[in-house]
Amino acid sequence: MLTIADRQYMSIGIMDLTQVQRRIARLQRELLELGPLHPGSITEQVNVCGQPGCRCKDPKKPQKHGPYYQLSFTWQGKGSTRFLRPEQVEPMRRKVANYKRLRELMNEWVSLGVELERAEREKRAGGD
Ligand SMILES: [Zn+2]
Repeated sequence: MLTIADRQYMSIGIMDLTQVQRRIARLQRELLELGPLHPGSITEQVNVCGQPGCRCKDPKKPQKHGPYYQLSFTWQGKGSTRFLRPEQVEPMRRKVANYKRLRELMNEWVSLGVELERAEREKRAGGD
C-alpha cells in the first residue's frame, strides 16, 4: 500500500529535480567559499582568586578576574579545552562559525542526495 507521502514523492516532476540540482550546486559553491574553520565552542569565564584582600573579593564592589576565553571541542573522539589569548578570540569565533556552516551545508547536501535517490527509485518503480 502506498501512503499519501509516497504518492507525493512519486509526483516529483522534472522541474522539482532541476530545482534540487540547482540547490546542490549552490551548496557546493558556498562550501568552496568557506574560510578557515575549527570545531568547538567558546566560553567566557571570570574567576575569584585565593589572595586575601584582592579586588575580586571586595565586599562592596567585587571585580572578578577575566574574562578568560576557552575553546572546547571534541574531534575524533577526543575532547580538548584550551585557553585563548584575547587576540585569538575573534578569529576563533569566525572559524567556529564556519565549521557550523560547513556542517549545515553538508547535512543539506546529504538530505537532498537521499531525496533525489528516492525520487529516482520511485520513478523507475513507476515504469516510466
Ligand atoms: Zn583576585
